[in-house]
Order: sequence, then structure tokens, then C-alpha cells
Amino acid sequence: MKKFTSKYLVVGLVLVVALAAILWWPSEEGLSFTAGTYSASAVGFNGPIRVEVVVDRAKINSVRVVEHTESRLIADVALLRIPVAVIEGQTVAVDAVAGATVTSRALIAAITDALTQAGGNLTLLQTRPVAGLAQQGQPTERRVDVVVIGGGGAGLAAAVQAHQDGATVIVLEKMPRLGGNTILSGGAFNVVDESRQKLHGIEDSVERHVTQTYEGGDRLGNLDLIRVLVENAAGAVRWLEELGMKFQDSVFTVPGGMWARALRPVAPLGTGFIETLGAYIEKEEGIEVLLETTATELILDGGRVVGVKATTAAGQLTVRANNAVIVATGGFGANVEMRDKVNVHWPSLTNIKTTNHPGATGDGIRMAEAIGASVVGLDQIQLLPLGDPATGSLSGSIGRSVDTTIYVNKDGKRFVNEGARRDVMTRALMEQRDSALWEVVDRDSFPTGDTRNNFAETIDSLVAQGRAFRADSLEELARLINVNPANFIQTVTEFNAAVERKGGDAFGRTLFADKIDTAPFYAAPRTPTVHHTMGGIAINTSAEVVGTNGQIIPGLFAAGEVTGGIHGSNRLGGNALPDTIVFGRIAGRNAANARR
Ligand code: ADP
Repeated sequence: MKKFTSKYLVVGLVLVVALAAILWWPSEEGLSFTAGTYSASAVGFNGPIRVEVVVDRAKINSVRVVEHTESRLIADVALLRIPVAVIEGQTVAVDAVAGATVTSRALIAAITDALTQAGGNLTLLQTRPVAGLAQQGQPTERRVDVVVIGGGGAGLAAAVQAHQDGATVIVLEKMPRLGGNTILSGGAFNVVDESRQKLHGIEDSVERHVTQTYEGGDRLGNLDLIRVLVENAAGAVRWLEELGMKFQDSVFTVPGGMWARALRPVAPLGTGFIETLGAYIEKEEGIEVLLETTATELILDGGRVVGVKATTAAGQLTVRANNAVIVATGGFGANVEMRDKVNVHWPSLTNIKTTNHPGATGDGIRMAEAIGASVVGLDQIQLLPLGDPATGSLSGSIGRSVDTTIYVNKDGKRFVNEGARRDVMTRALMEQRDSALWEVVDRDSFPTGDTRNNFAETIDSLVAQGRAFRADSLEELARLINVNPANFIQTVTEFNAAVERKGGDAFGRTLFADKIDTAPFYAAPRTPTVHHTMGGIAINTSAEVVGTNGQIIPGLFAAGEVTGGIHGSNRLGGNALPDTIVFGRIAGRNAANARR
């Protein structure tokens, strides 16, 4: 329980339990139980959560979670906070913890069950108001060598590297969980990895990856930064593997990735990155995470950044940095106002949803600008053509690799090279009726019903939820998705001919693997969604932040999506994760060595 659970929460827990024990007086509202220890369980996100509740005749004395398989990174706050709130308020009318609602609800259900077994009055228990958590006694000032703002891929990589290089580290994370957008990503990690690529007969080179990244961003990216990203990606994979992360041997082309150089982690989505780095933080001393702690301001002293001001549920916290501060707060894809302010290349984005988590609001850019940091390319916003129509998220997408997928519009016709750049595909999609496409694949992508997409969802579950459609013939699929069957069949027939020729389709597609000719056939609806903000804080190849005067700002580093200048006008699919890990490590190493 030491880590990820803001130390404040732990102090709060002790205080609250003590306070509750000392101050609680049998209630006039008349809670009454049969004294004893009761046990109950309910199913959480990953499996059963079992609790043990101890009551005396008139009060709840203790609530203990004795068994669970929830992901600690996501569920710890709920597992700690809810028992505290139940005891403090002598109630089960407790709010779910944001970001861990399934766990919260299961835990509350299990506690309610145990209290019901103890003869508690359910109506009374469910209606007694919750008292606020005690927040007294929390420190308002801390000091470490390196302060990292943001607990996504870049921030955690920076934190771990800084700690490996001898620094004490605190990571401030505003959400109740770690992982940011990184944990939600499909996990594709571009790297020139000869051993894996050769297994599949794929030729590649550092030069090709550099060139595709540079050209893919319309030559607006900084070639020096691109080179650092590409040349250090393989080292980043080795570093992660040494920390225990596992990658599959397969290599694939992620949409907009332009080449088959994406590694796929064994763990679903981006969880492997966060769990690997989180496990290191969990086990080591001198490195910790404060969740639900929002950095608000960088502290300057004589032109040098010397700390961070933050807010927590308890109030203000100042964390001073002996060496340096690293900004790793991610992008601003979830900040509609900021998007609208800088957007010049797209039609209005006000009503376009996003793949991003709600904490992607550009805080780091604002904080860094306020102390004189330079920003670059804020107008470069990446959209994907592959958002879930209901939520904007990437989940539900059924394309497993570009070379096995086609996109058709509502008329059943292809309209773009599915291997094109992300901006090209999204612009083409915006010209289609209702800006709507269907991803279409066949059994090669999902040999069985429990085959998972890139977002850990089985095709059976997507079909059951009505988020994907399955049919035994193309004609039947066309009817299911309400597109013209003749057009649809002709589209697939023409595509299959191009697969045979390995080229020569109407859209200049070059990535071909299998024909779409084996039942069952699948289709899933997708729509444009805001995905990545390519602009941000200007850095140099040492991840030092550059000021508006062209000089570096001493004591300040930045890494990950919060930075700008690498991806130019268009980020290659699969380049974000190497960006976060490579530059996170550079920032961490240099911050650890940036002694005053
Ligand atoms: P990257 O891929 O660059 O690491 P992520 O989106 O994965 O970006 O992670 C950024 C993290 O920073 C998120 O977890 C987000 O909640 C966190 N964050 C954003 N703003 C703040 C802030 N003001 N204080 C603390 N954490 C923040």
C-alpha cells in the first residue's frame, strides 16, 4: 500500500480510522448489528473482491479488503479510500472513485452484503450521508532531487531512469490512476528491430525510419530530435525488457505507421509499459507517486526551475527539486477550448470527440509558457479516421494490421489508401457521407470468436455489443451494415485483384497481405477523432526546455506528448511510444545529473 496511494491518503486513513474510533458515538439514527466478523464478495473488473467487515452492536469497526485481482495501478485508490469512507460515515452511501468505478461499485456491493448479513438496516446504511475524508496532518512541503509532473509513459520512464541514475524522485499525477493516454494506446512501438523484422522477411533501416518520420511530418520536424528518437528506440525496448516488459515476436503496420516496424506488447493496450515502470516504482525506495495531485505552477528562482506547486484534496503542496523538474503532462487533445484556439488546419473540431483520457488538457504547456518556455507547432493536431462513433475512443476498431483491412464508405466504396498518412485518411473521410467509414476484414484477422483486436476486445464481444457486424457472405454483411451490396461486392473484388497483383489499386496502396475472401466477414463503423497534439514545449536533444529567448531554462526538462517539434505536421502511427520512452529516459538521466 506504500505507493500510488498518495502518502496523504495513507496518513488520512490512519487519522480517519483513529478519529472514527475515538469520536464515534452510537448514532441516534439507530444503526444496529449483530456483533461479529462478516465476509462477502462481489465481482470487480478482473474478478471477485472479498471483504471482511467487523461490527459491534452499534457501529462498523473495520472494513478490510482481503482478496482481489484488480489492477493495482487503477484500483488502489478505490480499495483504500472506500473502506475509510464507510467507517468514517458509518454508511455505504459512498461515491465511486473516478477512473475505478467498476472496482468501487463491486467493493461497495461486497461491504453492503456483509453489513446486511450482520443484520444492518440497508435503507439506513444507504441513506446516511457521507462525511468528507479527514485531510488534516498532511505535509505541505516536500523535497526530492527530481520532480516529474505526469505519470504517463514519458513521466514514468523519466522517473525510473532518474532513480536508476541515483536521484530521489516524486511523480505528481493529477488523475486517480497512472497511465495517461499511454495506457489507453494500442501499444504499437515503432522500432527498427532487425531480429524481429527479419523473422518476417521485412527490410528496414534507421535511415528509412528517420526519413519516413521526417517526410511524414512534411519536413516540419526537427531532424536532430527525430534521429534521437529513432536511434534510441531499440535501446528503449531493451531497457523495458530488462525491467521485465514482454513484447511479441510479431511485427505489424499500425494505421499511419507507413512500415511494418511496430512491436506489440504481450500485455493488452499500453498497460505493459505502465505496469512495468509502475512495478519498479512499487519495489524501489526513494521513488514514489502522488496520485490526485495536480501541478499548477513551476517555481522559478533566479531563472532556474526549483520546484512545483500543486493542489491535492488536502490543499496546497509544494515539492522542491534539488536537481530539476520534468514536465511530462501529455497533450491537450481533451481540451476543446485549447484545440479550437490553435486549430487552423482542420474544419471546426468543437464537436469532434477524442481518443484521449480526460486529463489531457495541456497543463504542462501552460505552466511552461508561463515561465518563458518556447512552444512549437501547437497548430498541429492529429486526427484519426478510426474513432468509435459513440465515444471517440479507439476501442472497437477491428483492423489488426493495415495490410489486412479496407475502409469503405456508406456507399460501399473504398475512398483512400488505407496505408496512407493519418491526416490524409482523415481528410478523405471527412469528405465522405456523414464522415463515416466501415472497417472491413475477414477471418484471417479473427480466426476464432475469441481472437482479440488491438484493444484487447474479442470479436465475439464486439459483435454481441453491436459494435461490429459479422456475416457469412459479403452480400449479407452489406445488408447488415446497410450499404449497397453490389457496390460492396465489387469493391472487395477489385481489392482482391489488387492483392493478387500486389498493387495497382485506384488509391496507390502498397501494403497488401491477404485477400478479403474468407468467411466470416466483419465490419465496424468508425469516424474522425482527435488523437494526438504534435505541438508543445520546445526541447533540445538533451530534453532541456528551450526558452523564448533561445536559451535553455535551467532545471527544466520535458518529454513525451507535451513536447513539440518532433512529429511535424503528422505523427507516424507507432512513433508516440518510442518518443515517450526515449525522451523520458533522456530527461530522467539529465535531470538526475543536473545538480545545482
Ligand atoms: P505521455 O504519452 O507523453 O507520457 P500521457 O498522456 O500518457 O502522456 O501521460 C501524461 C500524464 O500527465 C497523464 O497521466 C495526466 O493525467 C498527467 N497530467 C496532466 N496534467 C497534469 C498536472 N497538471 N499535474 C499532474 N499530472 C498531470
